[in-house]
Amino acid sequence: MHRTYSKKTLWRALLLGALAVALLLLIGLDFWSGQREASFEKSSLAMGTVVTAQLYGPDGEEAAGAIFDALQALEQERLSWRLSSSDIARINAAAGGSVPVAPQTIGYLQQAAAVSQKSGGAFDCTLGALTQLWDIGGENARVPSQAEIDAALQTVGYQSVSLQGGQAAVAKGQALDLGAIGKGIACDEIAAMLEQSRLSGAVISVGGSILLWGQRPGGGDWKIGVRDPRGEASEQLGSFSLPGGYVSTSGNYERTLTVNGQTYHHILDPKTGYPADSGLISVTVMAPTGLLSDALSTACFVLGYQDSLPLLKEFHAEAIFVTQERAVFVTEGLRQSFTLTNGDYHLASAG
Ligand code: AMP
Ligand code: MG
Repeated sequence: MHRTYSKKTLWRALLLGALAVALLLLIGLDFWSGQREASFEKSSLAMGTVVTAQLYGPDGEEAAGAIFDALQALEQERLSWRLSSSDIARINAAAGGSVPVAPQTIGYLQQAAAVSQKSGGAFDCTLGALTQLWDIGGENARVPSQAEIDAALQTVGYQSVSLQGGQAAVAKGQALDLGAIGKGIACDEIAAMLEQSRLSGAVISVGGSILLWGQRPGGGDWKIGVRDPRGEASEQLGSFSLPGGYVSTSGNYERTLTVNGQTYHHILDPKTGYPADSGLISVTVMAPTGLLSDALSTACFVLGYQDSLPLLKEFHAEAIFVTQERAVFVTEGLRQSFTLTNGDYHLASAG
């Protein structure tokens, strides 16, 4: 999961992220409504990314504290492949044998396997050896040799993960990387906490994953901005509205490496071992859970527009695809509420 960034990069990301979220929330909030509710906002680094919690109703500050504590625990005890204490790191360290892990971790891996299977392996959490080799966004980022890529690809295959009797195992040489679903899982865990709180509504963004929960102050749907994949973090391509739910975006601008004028991004195609090249520059997915929205945004980015459609149907998800040619495809369930606001892009209809 989490990569090592320099402190400076992270703080710059935090600032930019906070600005972007502030803009997003400005759209979402009805500032002219007479019924302003108590609100509390906290932005900080967690899970290797910028997390912002905007909470409405009583006890916001306490809830924010509990949310950030829970994210730290999720990272340290369950998801991080770097921190040796986590379930995922322990599974990787024991590759070839099995280790007992928390029931939650088994659940995450089962759902990940379902998306791997239905996506024909476009999404695959066993590509840890490959992501560590490229290390895009990390301190050791480089373009590996074809021989190294071939060797890493040999270890990839979700079918080798075994989950039985509270134990988990991967094959020898194999490594899990839950970077494509960690932020969505965080949204699911936060939603469960919010259900137990006295809050009336919340917008939580964990990197590229967003949770819209409860009532929006002033009533009506929440409005979500879609980032311009070619612009700054605060620039938008358009927006759509939802009564609530989970939204994740995967984009080729998130983490990159440029060598000899060629730019490589962080979403890898498990078939080739190279950054996915499906003609997309970003995909935003709305799905019934955070894990699904996150897994599907990564899967769709690898599959491309046409091949993603059956996968989205399978999981009752909707999406907004942006292509290199700046065409924007919106699936039926979001078409009504989506508005394109950026003249550099054009709406395209489903083929
Ligand atoms: P996301 O930004 O949610 O699309 O996740 C990208 C992250 O997931 C990368 O930084 C890798 O750690 C990991 N990853 C990259 N490609 C894939 C893939 N095809 N399937 C699963 N995980 C991936
Ligand atoms: Mg993802």
